[in-house]
Amino acid sequence: MNHIKGLFCLIVALMLGIQFVNAQERCYSHILMLEDLQSNPNFVREQNKLEAFTRKNQLEKDQSGSRYIIPTVFHVIHDGDALGTGDNLPASLILAQLSQLNQDFGKENSNADQTPAVFQDVAADTDIEFCLATKTPGGATTSGITRTHISTLGVLSSDCWDPEYIRTNIMMPLMWDHLKYLNVFIIERIDVPGCSSSGQILGFAAFPGSAAGYDGIVVINRSIGALETPNPVSSTLSFGRTTTHEVGHWLNLRHIGGDVAGGCGDDFVSDTPPQKGGSSQNGTGNDTGQNYGCPTHPLTYPGECPGTTAEMFMNYMDYVDDQCMTMFSNGQKNRMRSVIEGSRVALKFEKCCARNPVNRWTGPPVGDWYGTDTHWSLQRTPMPCDIVIIPSGKRLTIKNGETALGYELRVNAGGQYVVEDGGVMCIDVAPY
Ligand SMILES: [Zn+2]
Repeated sequence: MNHIKGLFCLIVALMLGIQFVNAQERCYSHILMLEDLQSNPNFVREQNKLEAFTRKNQLEKDQSGSRYIIPTVFHVIHDGDALGTGDNLPASLILAQLSQLNQDFGKENSNADQTPAVFQDVAADTDIEFCLATKTPGGATTSGITRTHISTLGVLSSDCWDPEYIRTNIMMPLMWDHLKYLNVFIIERIDVPGCSSSGQILGFAAFPGSAAGYDGIVVINRSIGALETPNPVSSTLSFGRTTTHEVGHWLNLRHIGGDVAGGCGDDFVSDTPPQKGGSSQNGTGNDTGQNYGCPTHPLTYPGECPGTTAEMFMNYMDYVDDQCMTMFSNGQKNRMRSVIEGSRVALKFEKCCARNPVNRWTGPPVGDWYGTDTHWSLQRTPMPCDIVIIPSGKRLTIKNGETALGYELRVNAGGQYVVEDGGVMCIDVAPY
């Protein structure tokens, strides 16, 4: 829905929407946003500025412009698990998550055909992509994945890992320049504030204008996955949509239900119908306009919001199960792109890889990569940030004859090859 309202109304709406955190809260971003609005005058200024810019931008500009590519770094936080096990997720799973994120933002998700016909026309390819960062803020070559043992942060597993604690003790020490990267923190758990109950939060994000130290997203590690490569810890949230949802917040999207108690709130987007929302997970009825589980289209509730004949529960900014999410809308696309043209404008000037195909060892040779059971070779000049997944113990052969396994390799062609844990190789052809 689209009502031009001031930020004051937003604050009131969010206050009305605050609920006791249930046993499992899909997302905590909107509550953190309210707290930040109350405590951080600079955030209020930045949000007001961005809302004004977004409204102007949406009115004046055709949003079907160039494709934006956002360098992304995944920070894996663990407590000593061997590389690729437990909390120390394998790079292959993170690559699968990145691929799902790109499919979702590009309307290339394999379940896009589940979008009901009535919403097909507003389902958007956002023209926003995400790539693994190839350079650290200091200019060093990177795989785009960092791994940090909690002991180096002075963090204990037994501490209360609530959002404030995570911001201070995990995000701030590890954050890469928030103006140039999307920082994704992958951690074991997110506790409710003060550990006042035993509940868990699945993820949270910083809205644009947030303080530099925590301007990223946080997701729990069992949510990392993809439709075709689900997280091995099986659940309804194993398919990567928590990350898609939180990145939506990072690009200024609100929950589709508007975060108002009883539903029908404003998400500042015109082509998403206002919605009543379904029962919360503990069965207390409509709470803040979100839906849970996997509803059937067309979905309405008694006392449905005026004008709504079907709720867009399959939107990534609802709370339904991962496999039942299928779309962003054109209005959401415009809102997100306005952020990149506004407060996150530095991202536009980053150069990175993003959409080069992710090749896998198994199966027949793909593209320019040729593999056998014992080695693969590249039959062409490397492209910037080519990515290939290589199983542990396999050997990679570049056409000039050099090989790599689990360490950095420099080749005569002028490229630099970085192999992480025998799992991910990222090629950067910048001169060195
Ligand atoms: Zn959310």
